[in-house]
Amino acid sequence: MTTSQENIPTGFDTLGLAQPLLKALADVGYETPSPIQAACIPPLLAGHDLLGEAQTGTGKTAAFALPLLQKIDLKRAVPQALILTPTRELAIQVAEALQKYAHHMPGFHVLPIYGGQSMVVQLRALSRGTHVIVGTPGRVMDHLERKSLVLDKLQMLVLDEADEMLRMGFIDDVKWILEHTPAERQTALFSATMPDVIRRVAREHLREPQEIKIRSATSTVVTTSQSYCQTHTGQKLEALTRILEVEDDFDAAIIFVRTKTATVELADKLEARGYSVAALNGDLTQGLREQVIERLKAGTIDIVVATDVAARGLDVARISHVINYDVPYDTEAYVHRIGRTGRAGRTGRAILFLAPREMYMLKLIERATKQKITALTMPTPGEVANRRVAQFTQQVVDIIKTEKLDFFFDVVRRMEGEQDIAAREIAAALAWLATRERPLQMPGANDHAPRDAASTPAAVPSASTFERKPARAKSDESTPAAEPRRERPAARSDTPVQQRTFVPGTLARYRIEIGRNQGVLPKEIVGAIANEAGIAGKDIGQINLFDDYSSVELPANLPADLMDILRRIRVRQFALKTRAMEPGEFVDTRPPRRAPPAGKKPDWKKPAGAKPEWKAKRER
Ligand code: AMP
Repeated sequence: MTTSQENIPTGFDTLGLAQPLLKALADVGYETPSPIQAACIPPLLAGHDLLGEAQTGTGKTAAFALPLLQKIDLKRAVPQALILTPTRELAIQVAEALQKYAHHMPGFHVLPIYGGQSMVVQLRALSRGTHVIVGTPGRVMDHLERKSLVLDKLQMLVLDEADEMLRMGFIDDVKWILEHTPAERQTALFSATMPDVIRRVAREHLREPQEIKIRSATSTVVTTSQSYCQTHTGQKLEALTRILEVEDDFDAAIIFVRTKTATVELADKLEARGYSVAALNGDLTQGLREQVIERLKAGTIDIVVATDVAARGLDVARISHVINYDVPYDTEAYVHRIGRTGRAGRTGRAILFLAPREMYMLKLIERATKQKITALTMPTPGEVANRRVAQFTQQVVDIIKTEKLDFFFDVVRRMEGEQDIAAREIAAALAWLATRERPLQMPGANDHAPRDAASTPAAVPSASTFERKPARAKSDESTPAAEPRRERPAARSDTPVQQRTFVPGTLARYRIEIGRNQGVLPKEIVGAIANEAGIAGKDIGQINLFDDYSSVELPANLPADLMDILRRIRVRQFALKTRAMEPGEFVDTRPPRRAPPAGKKPDWKKPAGAKPEWKAKRER
């Protein structure tokens, strides 16, 4: 089955979901079901087995979670549904999503169980009773074997990211679990790809499954120039505002987000940063919606933050930019979105934000739009400052050309005479006054030297032009914004770092507050520690990346001054906040590899060279 934009129902209320779930969806601000949700929810509610081909980001969690929750009998605190996921992170994420959607189901309980977590804790939690289990296959199998988990009342089993479970060597565990759960259960299998092994599992363990595949039916040639910016969630707003500042030919933008709540939240944040912006979502009456569009046309606002549904049919010629702040569910939605720019014969510009785990969308969109999408990096504070200075310079030049300034010449001349200060100092002070509301320099701009001379606008005065008498010099914090100081190279290159020597001995594990979600690479961690703390590469041991932190092996008992440096080192703008890990704090989340059940041969071999993510070791 293939879905397309046109046949998405307008709301969740048409899918047969119960009131408590509809209320929770309204709370989280989902406006319309994603294609996979529209396609999966009705058959799952009707009790069919399901084979769904869908990636992360398509909304597949809610696609199985909502029907699953609807079938839960809250009065019976026994596992009625089991969701198997390849990783502990996904198990936790799915459990959190269930909790969110079950917000209006009093007494609902979901328990994530995964390897690496204390057995005692899990046994205690299981004995308290739960409605749904979300777990990794190895640990679920352990509990089934110990009889600490009994699934005789199981009604629904979901295999999430089945191909990932296959890749990680879990497929035999998964089959074992399928064989040890009630045969009459309902089963849903989701997988981003459908290799033969997965199809075979589906054939053997699913009953006449409905096959749901979300793919784009068409590809379209677009004339819009397209770029993407890879950033993790925490940096998106900063990246957006910096990009908006340095984009050429910016007139107006439509920014797409997924939820109604997000339209309002992002519009508020942009407004606080000085943009004229409004939210456009399905909660607005038709009258208010039209008002927003009129204001955009008239130029009283420059940015509209919208959901896909609310922006349907929007046709405003001055939209120069379409920003995909949240990635669309599929390529058709993307093509619809970017169709909002490039109107009236203009060339439009589309910018797509992608988290590292959403990067797979890039290829799909390139294929669908038959065009290369170029990479865009977040502009540095120095680049933003350069752009602001260039704009400010242009304003000054325009004023000199167009305004009558005789009276002001007199004012300046009088200042020079009466106060004994030079015209350039007066000009600098006036520039500061004029830009006080919107400083030309961003915080941290001094840490970033311009990439090359060409990127510095010609009109930027050299630093020495502005050198002031020491008595009047201000501290870093209070330096007037319009007083560009000499761009100094970042600390790491102008103060050679003392190389530390260590007696060869034991390494200890240290925790640093940056991880996979921040897109960090082990080599960046090694580079930063080596360059800024003077710890040679040979003294740095294994690095393990987790979602929001990492562990690094360094010589044990580092001196306080070095710990202080390690705490403050920044990688990708995150302070490492390094600290020694407590004994037992390091938990290797590598899934336990299990021998296949006796008598069975694994039907999967790890492809040569495949490197599971959890094995991320440092690359040098
Ligand atoms: P998933 O593919 O399940 O990992 O979901 C990806 C993201 O989309 C999650 O952040 C969800 O909260 C969000 N999401 C899922 N369904 C919807 C929807 N119908 N409307 C808006 N956001 C959604």
